[in-house]
Order: sequence, then structure tokens, then C-alpha cells
Amino acid sequence: MDCLFCKIIAGEIPSSKVYEDDMCLAFNDIAPQAPTHILFIPKVHIGSCGEVTPDNSKYVSHIFEKISEVAAQKGLTDGFRVVSNCGVSAGQTVPHLHFHVMAGREFTWPAG
Ligand code: AMP
Ligand code: ZN
Repeated sequence: MDCLFCKIIAGEIPSSKVYEDDMCLAFNDIAPQAPTHILFIPKVHIGSCGEVTPDNSKYVSHIFEKISEVAAQKGLTDGFRVVSNCGVSAGQTVPHLHFHVMAGREFTWPAG
């Protein structure tokens, strides 16, 4: 499959790894929108939040456990934002489920 994040998982495209296990990979975003900007992705191809099912939701819960752990390890005690864009009109540019974890600056709400 011609998927950028599947290629990163396969090691065909390099990434700045933050965390990895058998179910997920976390790496620094190439175009960070905050001082800390990490992407968490499942190691199976799921297109977006819109393709989460009872069969694959274990990847999502696992990723959220790891977001919590990595946030604690990195000392993100002032807070952090988790975002997943689902679909082109929501701003999704890579069609492989990913969670942006951003920290280190003030965030506005609602997001634009
Ligand atoms: P989204 O626009 O929500 O689909 O998020 C995709 C994210 O992937 C963007 O924030 C990009 O900066 C990031 N990105 C694209 N290519 C790479 C890459 N090779 N390594 C790390 N992050 C990337
Ligand atoms: Zn993929």
C-alpha cells in the first residue's frame, strides 16, 4: 500500500522515534506546530478515526495508554493537546490514523 506512515513503520522512510512497541510507533512531526509535537500511529493500517471498529479499537486504547506514559516521561505537566483529523475537510493529509500530541505553548479553543 502506498501509505507514508506504513512506510515509516516499515523503516522505508526515516523518522525521529520517540516510542515504539509491537502495536504503535510515536515519532516527532516533521513540521512541528508546537515545541513538542509527536505523532502516535498504530502499526496496522487504519485510515482514520472513521475506520475504528470493535476489531481494531485495541490499538486506539493502547495508543492512549502510551500517550499518557510519554507525556509523563517528557514532563508535560502544563498540559498537552491530542488531535486527530478525520477526513480532508477536517485537515487530514495522511490517510493513516494518527494522534497529534502537542505541548509547550498556549492553545486556543475552539480550534480553527
Ligand atoms: P494530518 O495533516 O492531521 O493528516 O497530519 C499529518 C502530519 O504528518 C502533519 O502534521 C505532517 O507535518 C506530518 N508528516 C508528514 N510527513 C512526515 C514525515 N515524513 N515525518 C514526520 N511527520 C510527517
Ligand atoms: Zn498506512
